[in-house]
Amino acid sequence: MKKIFFALLILISSVQLRADEGMWLPMLLEGMTITDMQARGCKLSAEDIYSINTTSMKDGICQFGGGCTAEMISDKGLLLTNHHCGFGYIQMHSSVEHDYLTNGFWAMNASEELPCPGLTAMFIVSMEDVTNLVLSEVKGNMTEAERNASIQKRMGELEKERTKGDVVAMVRSFYYGNAFYLFMTETYNDVRMVGAPPMAMGNFGGDTDNWVWPRHTADFSMFRIYADKNNRPAAYSKDNVPYKPKKAFTINASGVKIGDFTMVYGFPGRTTEYLSSWGVDLIANVSDPVKVKLRTLRLNIMREEMMKSDVVRIQYAAKRNGAANAWKKWQGEMEGLQETNAVGKKQKREAEFSTRVAADATLTAKYGSVLGEMKQRHEEIKPWQLAVDYMNEGILSVELIRYVNGYKKLVEACKAEKRDQAEIDKQLKNVNEGVDGYFKDYNMALDQRIAVAVSTEMDANMEASKKPAVFEEVKTKNKGNWKKYYSKLYSSTAFASKDKVKALLTGFTADKWQSIANDPAYILMDQLYAHFSKQLVPEFQKINGEINRLNRIYMEAQMKVFTDFRFYPDANSTLRVTYGNILPYNDPAAIDGYAYNWYTTLNGVAAKNNPQIPDYIAPKRLMDFWRAKDYGRYADKNDGELHTCFIATNHTTGGNSGSPVFNAYGELIGTNFDRVWEGTMSDVSYDVNRCRNITLDVRYTLFVIDKYAGAGYLLDEMKIKW
Ligand code: ASP
Repeated sequence: MKKIFFALLILISSVQLRADEGMWLPMLLEGMTITDMQARGCKLSAEDIYSINTTSMKDGICQFGGGCTAEMISDKGLLLTNHHCGFGYIQMHSSVEHDYLTNGFWAMNASEELPCPGLTAMFIVSMEDVTNLVLSEVKGNMTEAERNASIQKRMGELEKERTKGDVVAMVRSFYYGNAFYLFMTETYNDVRMVGAPPMAMGNFGGDTDNWVWPRHTADFSMFRIYADKNNRPAAYSKDNVPYKPKKAFTINASGVKIGDFTMVYGFPGRTTEYLSSWGVDLIANVSDPVKVKLRTLRLNIMREEMMKSDVVRIQYAAKRNGAANAWKKWQGEMEGLQETNAVGKKQKREAEFSTRVAADATLTAKYGSVLGEMKQRHEEIKPWQLAVDYMNEGILSVELIRYVNGYKKLVEACKAEKRDQAEIDKQLKNVNEGVDGYFKDYNMALDQRIAVAVSTEMDANMEASKKPAVFEEVKTKNKGNWKKYYSKLYSSTAFASKDKVKALLTGFTADKWQSIANDPAYILMDQLYAHFSKQLVPEFQKINGEINRLNRIYMEAQMKVFTDFRFYPDANSTLRVTYGNILPYNDPAAIDGYAYNWYTTLNGVAAKNNPQIPDYIAPKRLMDFWRAKDYGRYADKNDGELHTCFIATNHTTGGNSGSPVFNAYGELIGTNFDRVWEGTMSDVSYDVNRCRNITLDVRYTLFVIDKYAGAGYLLDEMKIKW
């Protein structure tokens, strides 16, 4: 068995070491990309995937909540996304009495669905290349700042011109400012929560398994989009009706196998694949390590406080998960970049670039100095990058500081020489409306501990000349004792207590602005942001602006010099297609001596299940199904097991969370939710030997809805192929 597995692995990797890398614009598939996709097994045409003339797959996919993806699975507006994408809303609706985090949530009929204020689902109506229109006023002799201003102006004008009612135009930059595309979008904002498994399944494995394979997480949740009577976007109303999407996907529950073609269609957030070696070095060796160090302090304190109290556990569940997600990814990224010698690979490419440029006088005149300048600018930016990271991940991540910053506009409006009462009223309304929501999820003791920890760390390691003034104050007045300093601050500020804030805001008039401005937390916040935005950011941005300019030129140059490479644009939260095949992996650089299989089953949940390890406590009910092998029609046809997840070579990133994973025929076979540890560096450098996306097998999703949760009536809305 093992022998066959390895033989298959070698065979498949040798045929397929082609173009797994890439996040393609759906309107540009025609030609090389669709030909390659079809050679890999895809049975779809470019027109099936994206068309503005007829209904196509893009019509069933939306950007969910601004940062994730979701797919339509019924013609009654039902959508499928990840548990971690719906998490903020599951948490928002949870309390110690209704603990949907722990117990899961299932609306058994429409009236039980929960409205989610602020949650959006955005569809793409069409896209268009508007590069010439955006660059129409750019002149060769412009400075970079003038160029940017001209581009911003044209982007804004185009968006305004093209927006028609609720069909909103947005223009985005591609290839580091070398191309621009316009997207017509429709955003629905009455989206209601329908179902979510308990965290012990939807987040099974927790931080331990996050970004790791093998994986057994039922990372899904379901919501329903509502529209007005004409099927158009509308604010929440009980009169709204389920949205009828142009496209709802057929689910294929017949199972997948090694080598199968897969395609992920969604909204990848951000990648930087074309950076110089110095750019990669800055991420891997300067920025990531500092961010990880500071965030570790913050997360440890959160974890400790959450374990002490159920109230704090629910309050900080979403905040902690969000923070831990990036924290763990940065670590995988650092490791992967090291192990694959990403900097060395870039250097090799730069050497080749230089040779090719040197051989051509026109190229030399245009691009001969770009790499030299790039190196110099990256040297210059290092100390500023560090300072900005220390501030952002350190003292500016303290909740008290961020919260008080929300009062700044009110104070400014009150202080203005000529007061604008409407503006004051608006700002006062804003802060008043935020109080309950903010304090619902705030714990002062926890926040105070974080403030002490991150400030102490900054004090010990940040370059002295870049520290804000409070560091000198604490040194002279408190002998560097941050605990003492914050103990006084938190007990004397009004902004760490809901009652005190309410008292401050009751009967507030513009003349009382000093009651806010003289609060010690406000004074500290003001000093910190002034330092950040006046001492650090301008210098950082000056150099970074230069780096951006160089990146644009280097991108243009790479496209001219490496004519044999198919360039895809970096992710920027716009709709993309990525494709690959279901494939195990065994990169010896990272994992010596063994290979990872391409799928997991419920047996793995049972094996991990351990009452001593909070991340690995599986619900008893789930283990009962496992013991009885009671998987019904969701069992794999070949081995009779319940398959949970599988991996493939699709090039994905954050934002692809919740993306539909399709088979060769465009049928839904799963929901994308993560990547493997060895491949998290794919945002900066993709390597087919070790980069895999992780998909939740749709059969596990259906099993959980139907058999585990008893919400099988939801399946009646879906079109399922068995
Ligand atoms: N799990 C990831 C996220 O949370 C998805 C990915 O980056 O592959 O964004």
